[in-house]
Order: sequence, then structure tokens, then C-alpha cells
Amino acid sequence: MATAAVASDIDFVRQAVEVADLNAVRLALYHNSRDPEVGALPPVAQMSAEQKALLIDKAVRWLVDNAGAAALPEPPEEDLRALMTMATGREMTDVEFAARRDLPAFRPFPCAVDWEGDKPPIPEGFRVVIIGSGPAGIVAGVQMELLGIPYVLLERQTEAGGTWTINRYPGVRVDTPSITYEYSFEKLYPWSEYFNRGEAVRKYLQHVSSKYGVMANSRFRHDVKGATFDEGRNIWTLDVDTPDGAQQIEANFIITACGTFANAQLPDIAGVEEFRGTIVHPSAWPEGLDLAGKRVAVIGNGSTGVQLLGAVAEQARSVVVVQRTPQWISPREKYGAPIEPGVAWLYENLPGYWNWARYTATMGLFDIDQLQRVDRDWQAKGGKVSKANDDLRAFLTNYIRQETGGREDIIEKLIPDYAPMSRRPVVDNGWYRALTRENVELLTGSVERFTPDGFVMADGTTREVDIVVSATGFDVLKYLWPARYKGLGGKDLHDSWDQGDGPRAYLSMMVPQFPNFFMLYGPNSQPLTGGTGLPQWWLIWASYAAQCMMRALEEGKGRVEVKQAAFERYNHALDEEAQHWLQMTPEGGIEKNYYVNREHRRLQVNAPWLSPDYHRMCTVVEWDDLSLS
Ligand SMILES: Cc1cc2nc3c(=O)[nH]c(=O)nc-3n(C[C@H](O)[C@H](O)[C@H](O)COP(=O)(O)OP(=O)(O)OC[C@H]3O[C@@H](n4cnc5c(N)ncnc54)[C@H](O)[C@@H]3O)c2cc1C
Repeated sequence: MATAAVASDIDFVRQAVEVADLNAVRLALYHNSRDPEVGALPPVAQMSAEQKALLIDKAVRWLVDNAGAAALPEPPEEDLRALMTMATGREMTDVEFAARRDLPAFRPFPCAVDWEGDKPPIPEGFRVVIIGSGPAGIVAGVQMELLGIPYVLLERQTEAGGTWTINRYPGVRVDTPSITYEYSFEKLYPWSEYFNRGEAVRKYLQHVSSKYGVMANSRFRHDVKGATFDEGRNIWTLDVDTPDGAQQIEANFIITACGTFANAQLPDIAGVEEFRGTIVHPSAWPEGLDLAGKRVAVIGNGSTGVQLLGAVAEQARSVVVVQRTPQWISPREKYGAPIEPGVAWLYENLPGYWNWARYTATMGLFDIDQLQRVDRDWQAKGGKVSKANDDLRAFLTNYIRQETGGREDIIEKLIPDYAPMSRRPVVDNGWYRALTRENVELLTGSVERFTPDGFVMADGTTREVDIVVSATGFDVLKYLWPARYKGLGGKDLHDSWDQGDGPRAYLSMMVPQFPNFFMLYGPNSQPLTGGTGLPQWWLIWASYAAQCMMRALEEGKGRVEVKQAAFERYNHALDEEAQHWLQMTPEGGIEKNYYVNREHRRLQVNAPWLSPDYHRMCTVVEWDDLSLS
């Protein structure tokens, strides 16, 4: 619809503003108009009804006169900081500001790095190999494109998209809002839903890969089996399975972007070979699998099991859900909802709305650490974890009761005995409601063994089924598996991890004796505390690797590696810091948490630092921790 025609349709504009994110409207409106009355309004959660009405009126009036004005450039730093403070109503530290300033994404390539002076000459034949064409690998490619560093991206699948190309089960979609699960440099992508489906995310990633030149440097059906570092030449030689047979490819630097959820975890249950039906892992969902008339078991109630149940139950004759451990499963506003035409119009016509909606969608997570600390004083007064965590527990418990419509036979089975926020939050895709369907049954406990026609539970209960959906997750400890990497002196990466206490790295990216080797989404990478979605982290990690390469190129050095002492110091501090979090306590169900390496009882998947602190570590390179030679 033409801007002028729409802007004159006051009803349309008013409806658009009314369903929009009013926090983002408030910021964008003030950013454009500098209206002191708008500036004086508090964050929306603290607004009275009259204040909200005033905001809406002012936004409508402004849009009628100005809709479609030019996009806003990044404001000067002081102004940006003031606007960000206005969003939350709270001052920030400098470290917080640095970590958050790119969330509204005004700059063309937020978080990416660029040459400060002249680009140094790139030696003939110099090449970076990126492994993996998921969201992280694509962004590493974009960073190389920006710097003009030659690279090739190797991907074992037939197309780009990583997780979103591999996982095609019914109901697959993001469970973090799409406005935060997108690249900050691809502005105003026309998503159709607030939480987009896997297919839409896959198309988006392929669009970005093509648009920024990464696709042209990608080789598909190239499965990296391993790589060895040649100390004399400072070159990695990769062994790669390709459609043309085994090949060796040389690289000066390797960036692995192989994902954490790459190795499916199938149920290790006796009798599996006897079962005459079909066992399906969601990450290998057979195309066109017909569930109509079938008796299906869904084992697992993590993010994926919860996401697919509704769609499976609609098609299948019957579904038995096997729940070993209850999960805290929470609602998300606008999950499954399309972006309203009015809001799509606002993205295009209210300058800054998209930028500030990115910020306001994330700011609710700035203080998420408060939910993940055990408050001993609170416990002494009879509380379970802390006031904030216990309040959340009460809310979610009530949600279970509400969604199951008073089904007393299942409610108690669904309430976890550990604290919310200690595992990855699972988003409700109508899971509780699906459990109340006539064709769905909940069994609790473990499957003990398969039989030719079904399975037997540990308590002796038997069920006959045709299809087992094994939503049993991924082996998240198997970083980079099954490829083998051999660094200095032929040291094998996985052997060294196995001989120690599992996968470890410096800043999640570097390992001593593995020069010119960077992992994206490596061990202890995903920050426990929020405030910055994964997409921003992929670019931050890629730009850290880029900074190391740039320095080596500028100084004519062939090798960058992390010093052993720095690696040890970092990991010692990491272990200490991890102890303070709920995830590592009995209250947080340490035994049931995939974030934790249970064999070695240490935090494994996450970085324990407050997100802004980890941001500083990954953006301001401590050159003394590295050696360049
Ligand atoms: C079902 C599902 C839903 C998710 N939803 C969300 C969400 O809503 N929000 C969120 O923040 N995160 C979500 N995640 C986490 C998700 O994995 C990340 O958001 C993201 O996909 C990780 O990107 P990546 O590029 O690091 O890894 P991936 O997307 O896993 O991509 C890795 C790529 O590397 C390739 N590869 C691996 N090893 C080799 C090798 N040796 N040779 C060649 N190629 C190789 C793989 O084939 C794959 O294509 C979800 C994960 C899953 C499994």
C-alpha cells in the first residue's frame, strides 16, 4: 500500500500502532520527533492508561504527517546511550553500553571489524577455510568478504542453512523472536511471522549467503574428516570427502562453525534392533512421512519434542508421550502469530521502529541473571531459590494447571522438582493442550526396552506403536565430531579433551597448540545470561578470529595461538564463576541439565560470565594472552 494513501487512513495507522510494540514506538517516535512529552513518558510497563493513550495519539499524528521518512542514521554516542537508557529506564555501565549499542543495529555492519589503515597485502595463495554453512559459518564468510580475505566454506550438506536445513520436522520454528534471530546487517528483512518457521529461516540464510557473496565461495557435499597442522609451513591440510572423492585442501586459518547440535542423540535402549516399526530422530525427519492412522510414541519433551507434538497429534491415530523429566515450559507472546499488516507497515514507515524493536525485544533479558542466582537469605526464610525465581515457578505452575484444564491425573506429573531457568527454557507450542487431547496419553519414566511391536517402560507398562519419534536431543559434548584435528606435535584435539575433563577452550574459541584455529559456538560459548541473542555472538566470535588474522597479516606473521598459561587462567576463572549459578546447584537439577558436563560436573555448554563482560572479552583482544610468530 502506498505510504501516503495509508497514512491518510487514520484508522489503519491507529490499529497499527495499537498492536505494535509500544516500547519501540515510544523510542522511535522520540528519536524522530524529540517531543519532550514523549521523552517524559516512562517505559510502557510503568505507564498509566492515559499515558499509553497519549503515546498512541502522538504516534498516529506523527505518522499521518511523516510516514515513510528516511531511515535514521546511528545517533551520536551520547544520544544513542540516552535513548537506550530511556528504553529501560535504567543507567548502564560502560561495559553494558558497549555490549548493547549494536542491538538497535543502526550501523551498516554492527559488530564486524574492518581494516583501520590500509589493507596489507595478502600473500599469494593465502586462504581461510570455514567449516559449516549454518548461521555462524555464513556470518564468518560475510566478515571475510568485508575484509577481502580469500576464503572457502565447506559444508557437508547439499545446501546452506545448518540447523534449519537439517531439522525439518513438523512444527519446526525458532523459539526466540525472529527480530532477534536475524543478522543485524540485513536490515528490515520481511519476515512473515514473529517466530518464523524453519523453512523461512532456511530461505533467509540462503538469501543472506547469496546476497553477501558467501554462497559463491561455498562448496557443498564437502565433509571435513580432519585436518593436520604443518608446523614448518604454518598450514592446515584438511582431508575432505567430496563428490569427486577424497581431497586435500590447504588453509592458513580454519574457522569451524559446525554447530553444537550437530550429532543426534539416539536412544540407547535395549531391543532397538528388534523393533519392527520406524524410529525417527527429528533432525532426520523422512520427507513425506505419513502419520495418518499410525500409533506414534514421542520420546522426549525438550524444545523439539514440545514443538512437534501438536502437529504429530493432529495427524496420528494415537500418540503416547514419554516424559522422563518434566520441563518448565513457558508461553511466548505472539508465538505462532503472523506479523500484522499494520506492524509490517510500521517497519517500513516509522523510521527507527525496526531498530528499537530489536532493542526492546532483547532488553527483557538484560537482568535474567537475577533468576539464576540462589539467594541463601531467601531460602533461610523458607523460599526455594530466590524471590524472582520462586515467582516464576509459581507463574509457570499456574500455567500448567490452566493449560491442562484441571486434569488432575497429569498435573502433578508435569511439575518439575528443580528450579525454572536452570535448563534451556522450553517454549510452549500448545504442548500442554495437546496432552489433553483424546488421542494423546502421557507416560512418565524411562523406556526400558523395545519389543518387536512397541516398548516396555521401567515400571512394566507396555505400549504398541508403529513409529517412535526420538526427540532425545543432541550429544552436545561432541564438539566438531567426528572430524579429527591434529595440532602441534600431532596433538589430537579430541584425545586431549578426553584426557582432561572434556572440551575446553579459551574464550570458547582457541585451544593451545592448535594455531590458526578458531571455533564458533565452541565449548562454554553460549552465555548463560541474556541480553544478546546468538546471531550477534556469531558475528562477535567471527570478528575475534578476524582480528587475529588481521594482526598476523599486518605484522607478516604466520601463526597465532593462545598461550597455555592464558588458557589455564581463563578456564580456572570460568570454573570458579560457574559455581555461582543455579545450573550447578542441586536446586537447578545439576543431574538433569545438558548445559552441564555431568561426568566432570562442570558447566560445559555455557559461558558463565555476565553477557556484557563476555562481550568485552571477545571484542577487546588481550594480545598478551596470544602469541604471534
Ligand atoms: C531444532 C533446533 C531449533 C533451534 N532453535 C533456536 C532458536 O530458536 N534460537 C536460537 O538462538 N537457537 C536455536 N537453536 C540453536 C541453533 O543450533 C543455533 O541457533 C544455530 O543454528 C547454530 O548455528 P551454527 O552455524 O553454529 O550451527 P548449525 O546451524 O548447526 O550449522 C553447522 C553446519 O556445519 C556443518 N558441518 C558440521 N561439521 C562439518 C564437517 N566436518 N564438514 C562439513 N560441514 C560440517 C553442518 O552440516 C551444519 O550445516 C536451535 C537448534 C535446533 C537443533
